[in-house]
Amino acid sequence: GLVRPAPESDAELAFEGALRPRSLAEFVGQAKVRGQLQLLLDAAAMQNRTPDHILLAGPPGLGKTTLAMIVAHESGRPLRMSSGPAIQHAGDLAALLSSLVPGEVLFIDEIHRMARNAEEMLYLAMEDFRIDIMVGKGAGATSIPLDLAPFTLVGATTRSGLLPNPLRDRFGFTANLEFYETYELEEVLSRAARLLDLDIPHDARREIASRSRGTPRIANRLLRRVRDFALVRGGGAGLAAVHGALELYDVDPIGLDRLDRAVLEAIVSRFEGGPVGLSTLAVSVGEEADTIESVVEPFLVRVGMLSRTPRGRVATRRAWDHLGVRRPDRGGL
Ligand code: ATP
Repeated sequence: GLVRPAPESDAELAFEGALRPRSLAEFVGQAKVRGQLQLLLDAAAMQNRTPDHILLAGPPGLGKTTLAMIVAHESGRPLRMSSGPAIQHAGDLAALLSSLVPGEVLFIDEIHRMARNAEEMLYLAMEDFRIDIMVGKGAGATSIPLDLAPFTLVGATTRSGLLPNPLRDRFGFTANLEFYETYELEEVLSRAARLLDLDIPHDARREIASRSRGTPRIANRLLRRVRDFALVRGGGAGLAAVHGALELYDVDPIGLDRLDRAVLEAIVSRFEGGPVGLSTLAVSVGEEADTIESVVEPFLVRVGMLSRTPRGRVATRRAWDHLGVRRPDRGGL
C-alpha cells in the first residue's frame, strides 16, 4: 500500500535539528500558544518552582518537539526525551522517573501510546512527585512508595482525544497546535534559507510555503528538495526549480501529497463521495486507521475537502472539484 515518506535519514534529521528554533522569540507563528507558554514559564521562574506540566496536541511536524526543547532551554533546565512506545511496562517509567534530576523537563512524545499501567503510575507522579513500586506477585505483593525529584512533564500527542481524562486533567495547560498560515511558513522558510545560506527569491519561497500542508517540517523538507533540484539541474532556486521539484515529489498544487489524494480518490470513486467508515477507508488505501485519522484527515478537513459525520467520512464539493471528477447530482447532500 501507500506509505508516508520513508523514516528520515540521519542527514535529514541533522538538517531538522540545525533549523530548530531555540527560543520562543525565534519560534514562528502559534502566537496564542507562545503567549500561554511564556506566561507559564515566567510565573514559574518568579516563584522559583518547576513549571506546570504541559500537553502539546496536534498533527505531526507542527513543532511539538521543538517547543519541548524550548521549554527546557528557556527555563534553564535539562531535558530528557522519551516516547510512549518506549514505555511498555510500568517498570520502564519507574526507571525513567526515578533517574530524573531535580527540575528536569521530561518530554514524552506520542504519550497516548504508553502502556496502561504506566499511565496510572504517571498520574501519581505528576500530582505528588511520588510513585508506588510493586514488589512481588499475588497475595504477597507489596507496594513501596518512592519520592521523586520535582519535574515538568511535557507530553506530546497527535490525538489528545485518546488520552484518558485523569491523565489529561493533570496537565496544567494543553496547547493545541494549529496548521500554519502561508505567510508564517514563508517566515519559517526565510529563516531556513538564511541558515542554509541559500538564495531563494520571494515568489519561490511563497510557492513552497503554499504547498507545505501548513506544516513547518514539510516546508523545510521541500526547501531541501528544491535546493537539490537547483544544484543538479542548475538555474538557481527560483520558481522553475520549485515547480520542477514539487512535481517530481508528487506534491499537488495545493500541497496534498499522494496519501491525501489516495484518501480523497477512494471516497469519491469507490464510495461515491461517502459517507464511508474510517476503517473501511483505511483498508481501501492500505494505511492504518490511526494514520488516516491523525495525519491525513486534519489537513483535508482544514482545507474543506473532507467532513467527518456521525455516519462516516464525506468528500465535499471542493474535493470533487479538486480531483476534477464530476459529482453526480444527488440533491440534498
Ligand atoms: P513530531 O510530533 O512528528 O515529532 P513535531 O510537531 O514535534 O513533530 P518538530 O520536530 O518540533 O515537530 O518540528 C519539525 C521541524 O519543523 C523542526 O526541524 C523545526 O525546525 C521546524 N519547525 C517546527 N515548528 C517551527 C516553528 N514554529 N518555527 C520554525 N521552525 C519550526
